[in-house]
Amino acid sequence: MKINIAIDGPSASGKSTIAKRLAQQLDYVHIDTGAMYRCVAYLAINSNIDLTDEQSLGEMAETMDIRLSVDGKVFLNQKNVTEELRQEEISVGASKVSIYANVRKAMVKRQQAMALAKGFIVDGRDIGTVVLPDAEVKIFQTATVESRAMRRFKENQNKGIDSDFELLKNEIEQRDYQDTHRKESPLKKAEDAIEIDTSEMTVEQVVNLIISYIAERNYFYD
Ligand code: C5P
Repeated sequence: MKINIAIDGPSASGKSTIAKRLAQQLDYVHIDTGAMYRCVAYLAINSNIDLTDEQSLGEMAETMDIRLSVDGKVFLNQKNVTEELRQEEISVGASKVSIYANVRKAMVKRQQAMALAKGFIVDGRDIGTVVLPDAEVKIFQTATVESRAMRRFKENQNKGIDSDFELLKNEIEQRDYQDTHRKESPLKKAEDAIEIDTSEMTVEQVVNLIISYIAERNYFYD
């Protein structure tokens, strides 16, 4: 029997990496909900919509076309924006636009429609609490700010991008604050989620831990 798996946690804790690997290993479909909020920020910035203009952001969020392909690409109004969405300006913007109830409502509706059946691994901030409260397995993935900033730093290095470790750390701390203190669906661990601190763990170890957790509950064999 296939199930749904919710992975929530703070910025840069490696949720997407783990979700992608799990999806490959289990033959599930990965939905990266952060990419959808990033699309809202991207389109707003490129349409000169102020990131505090709640009404316009909400209308845009209702009507824009977002497609997530199974191989991880993101199409916004038919344009492939996968790379652009990773820019720091968009990360910060996504955190800003995601505070608004009407933006969240539009995104949650789309996400729930995408994951109507089973066999989905959905990562974000409110998946276990709001989007898929009935998900059979809920993971709350954390890591210290230092190790998250270091992962981003190394990622940038591998891409040949210069970055400042302290600056990355500050940005992550700011997004953590914003995501946990907002009024609408703040980032928090669902009561029935298991918390995994990945600071000292490899991707392999995290994936194996989650798979053994699922196997222990006999979901693979029902
Ligand atoms: O996960 P990612 O870093 O791509 O998410 C970008 C931003 O989108 C987050 O900082 C958060 O503010 C917002 N977000 C959210 N709810 C989700 C996914 C992301 O509010 N389910």
